[in-house]
Amino acid sequence: MNILVLNCGSSSIKYQLFDMRDQSVLAKGLVHRVGMSGSKIDHKKAGQSDKTVIQTEILDHKDGIKKILDLLTGEKTGVLKSLDQIDAVGHRIVHGGEKFAASVLIDENVLRAIRDCIVFAPLHNPPNLKGVEAVTEIMPKVRQVGVFDTAFHQTMKPKAFLYGLPYRFYEKDGIRRYGFHGTSHRFVSRRAAELLKKPYEKMKIITVHLGNGCSIAAIDQGVSVDTSMGHTPLEGLVMGTRCGDIDPAISLYLMKKYELSVQEVDNLLNKHSGVLGISQESNDLRDLEEGWPKRSERANLALEVYAYRIRKYIGAYIATLNGCDALVFTAGVGENSPIVRGIVCKDMEFLGIEIDLQKNEVTWRGAEGDISTPNARVRTLVVPTNEELVIAQDTMEIVGSKTGKGKGKV
Ligand code: AMP
Repeated sequence: MNILVLNCGSSSIKYQLFDMRDQSVLAKGLVHRVGMSGSKIDHKKAGQSDKTVIQTEILDHKDGIKKILDLLTGEKTGVLKSLDQIDAVGHRIVHGGEKFAASVLIDENVLRAIRDCIVFAPLHNPPNLKGVEAVTEIMPKVRQVGVFDTAFHQTMKPKAFLYGLPYRFYEKDGIRRYGFHGTSHRFVSRRAAELLKKPYEKMKIITVHLGNGCSIAAIDQGVSVDTSMGHTPLEGLVMGTRCGDIDPAISLYLMKKYELSVQEVDNLLNKHSGVLGISQESNDLRDLEEGWPKRSERANLALEVYAYRIRKYIGAYIATLNGCDALVFTAGVGENSPIVRGIVCKDMEFLGIEIDLQKNEVTWRGAEGDISTPNARVRTLVVPTNEELVIAQDTMEIVGSKTGKGKGKV
């Protein structure tokens, strides 16, 4: 079974084509600047050393997807004889609100429910939907599955997802913690259990996803019980450009003092804060780590704040879980930064976290590893995330199921 995975952003489309017989990637790529000037496609077939770069006008998402399909079936760039060889398409959908607690086969009801969630993710759900609509037009017979960033966290109890606000805002407006990166937290926590050869359903796991966006999740017996991102992906950890937790009164104060509009505060907190805001140097941890700890005081400070927030959440989630069997680092920073992992895990022996500094140094992107000392009570692991593979696996499971129906509640 061949499954195409699509991740449609506002101006980009990421894609991977999987052969699910061995879960291998046949081809993958990225469409840049959809609907803008200077658009292009980076495309790579399995086994090809360099990517093919195609500079071409891409009018909209439908045009982008058409061009991806042309590349997948093209004489030089292709890996398929015809589009009939695509058995199903899996889509990343950012927000499923309270309507989806698992991945689902997309039909008219599901589409309506995803549209209802646009209020929660006005920048993300519309392009996700455009991807679904484009595939429906181009390949009307192909079944499509939606995999939601929020679904894994739908198991949180009200005590974890409610804010201390008047209850009517939850009832009427759906204001609550939803959590994001669910596909990644689900994948790496399961993988950690496999690596440790322990039953997933009996483990207490804390997963730390540190990429462009950062979030941490507490997973008890295979279900998410708490996570740091909230109503939006702005809450929680300090990120590249996002502030994470702040006193909510700060926004009001800044609006008043500097006469900032809602849009300006939104930009400030989402795009100019985090480690970029503190360091005033870069949002990329690679830059801040270059020459560390001698690079600059501000770079050091940004790294310290970044790591300290992670430590606080780990402590909180150990309390939530009443213990922890595995602490899992993943995504760009989590997989690649011994410096961040080192600062986060320093002086945590009381909580059972102790890492071997040598093992911590020698992990590299794409590698899995246990970096804890032999006697540590908590196993600290590095597990590369693979959200596209999860989307492909869910898609295969759902289109292959007898009912043909998804598992989400619509
Ligand atoms: P992701 O969203 O998972 O692709 O992660 C992207 C982020 O990972 C970038 O913003 C970088 O800051 C970070 N990153 C990638 N490679 C490294 C590295 N070698 N060391 C530290 N951070 C890295």
